[in-house]
Amino acid sequence: MKTVNHWIGGKAVEGTSGVHGPVTDPATGARTTQVAFASAGEVDAAVAAAKAAFATWGTSSLATRTSVLFAYRALLDRHREEIARLITAEHGKVHADALGEVARGLEIVELACGITTQLKGELSTQVSSRVDVAAIRQPLGVVAGITPFNFPAMVPLWMFPLAIACGNTFVLKPSEKDPSAALLLAELATEAGLPDGVLNVVNGDKTAVDRILEHPDIAAVSFVGSTPIARHIHTTATANGKRVQALGGAKNHMLVLPDADLDAAADAAVSAAYGSAGERCMAISAVVAVGDTGDKLVAKIRERAEKIRIGPGDDPASEMGPLITKAHRDKVASYVHGAAAQGAEVVLDGTGFTVEGYENGHWIGLSLLDKVPTDADAYRDEIFGPVLCVLRAETYEEGVALINASPWGNGTAVFTRDGGAARRFQLEVQAGMVGVNVPIPVPVGYHSFGGWKDSLFGDHHIYGNDGVHFYTRGKVVTTRWPDPEDGGVDLGFPSHR
Ligand code: NAD
Repeated sequence: MKTVNHWIGGKAVEGTSGVHGPVTDPATGARTTQVAFASAGEVDAAVAAAKAAFATWGTSSLATRTSVLFAYRALLDRHREEIARLITAEHGKVHADALGEVARGLEIVELACGITTQLKGELSTQVSSRVDVAAIRQPLGVVAGITPFNFPAMVPLWMFPLAIACGNTFVLKPSEKDPSAALLLAELATEAGLPDGVLNVVNGDKTAVDRILEHPDIAAVSFVGSTPIARHIHTTATANGKRVQALGGAKNHMLVLPDADLDAAADAAVSAAYGSAGERCMAISAVVAVGDTGDKLVAKIRERAEKIRIGPGDDPASEMGPLITKAHRDKVASYVHGAAAQGAEVVLDGTGFTVEGYENGHWIGLSLLDKVPTDADAYRDEIFGPVLCVLRAETYEEGVALINASPWGNGTAVFTRDGGAARRFQLEVQAGMVGVNVPIPVPVGYHSFGGWKDSLFGDHHIYGNDGVHFYTRGKVVTTRWPDPEDGGVDLGFPSHR
């Protein structure tokens, strides 16, 4: 069986803790790989390697950093297929979707290639006689990233390319459920010429994360994962004096107004709810149908959902793959089983579904729940599976109030032909990312990604300008080159004249 180890100081390092976790192929249910779980001591070794590398990387020229990043971009581009195949083998998503994930990760590498512009700083000349003021941004030191299973390549790429472009060194703790893609990303970075120790990967679980959160040499932590863990990471790491951005879970709503193109809305709802089997933090999991749209929209969604082909991710005919684990599949199914008793109408029940020849895979079909009460578990919880809830609202105002009452505020979308209503929605809705006739409004790399409320803890969104700010700290330098006629003691507070 394949073993996934750590990547420390520019090379593969075998785990020494003796503890391993299983990695399964979700399509077959077979255990294909084991992943080494790092002890606190192994995390310390990775942090020590990163700290040593920071001594030179932190002051390396921008030209040095960008030449490595350009080479890295080219290597990732050449290895797209291989990365995508690793994602499918351990996560289960279909190959085309995995390729899309790699493409969106590459966007951030491209952003990092342009770090020269982002780090230009500001200069004010002659703020006082012969006095100039420069504002510069400098790296933090060693920073860490902790990432979820659902984007095993893209989310690490949201973090470390920008962090290292800013001059930091990095310790990544990927999800233990699908760790191979992250390890390949690190190997390719070394191949691209990244100096040893600048990017390190430690695999593991809570033990490794807890050490990261308390390690005195780690300056900042980027986290992406579920809300309870995001909250824990933020509380613990900030208490330990670290800068933290912790992105959490979501329940993303799509508001469909009566004037919307209902075919386009139904296409969008099905794509966004069931793509990647609903295992996306930006998945649409609740549709709010306004006015008389509900029955027509549900019929159109149902018609489309029934045609989705479910199968192994490496079969080009498959549009939706299995869920990550059996336990998760069973949990998702429990929400569908409990929905009717809690007042929802079960339009499609995807539980009990299997794929011939792959009976041990973590399969579930598409479920569609209509008229879901807001106190039903299927609506209150993040299910993270192919289950779409439809809710009804009489008016636009009622729909927006329903969305704004949600504890989460990651992404949301409005479907309408009315520009005024769309504009009002973008100003009134409480979410970090808004789509107008766009169901999954994941911002491009040069804008930042982040939610509101329980979808993000901390002050910085991820990547884009916020990412550069997160991975640097400001310094303001005031300079004077005295003239011979300057001088004399002056105990007054410096003021600019
Ligand atoms: P998770 O919170 O279970 O795990 C995320 C990371 O935290 C993993 O590396 C895991 O090893 C670690 N972890 C898990 N339990 C821990 C604990 N008790 N103590 C310390 N570390 C722990 O999330 P997941 O199941 O891997 O990913 C799915 C979740 O991530 C969903 O809730 C999804 O919405 C969210 N997500 C959010 C975004 C976003 O941008 N907001 C993006 C992707 C995924």
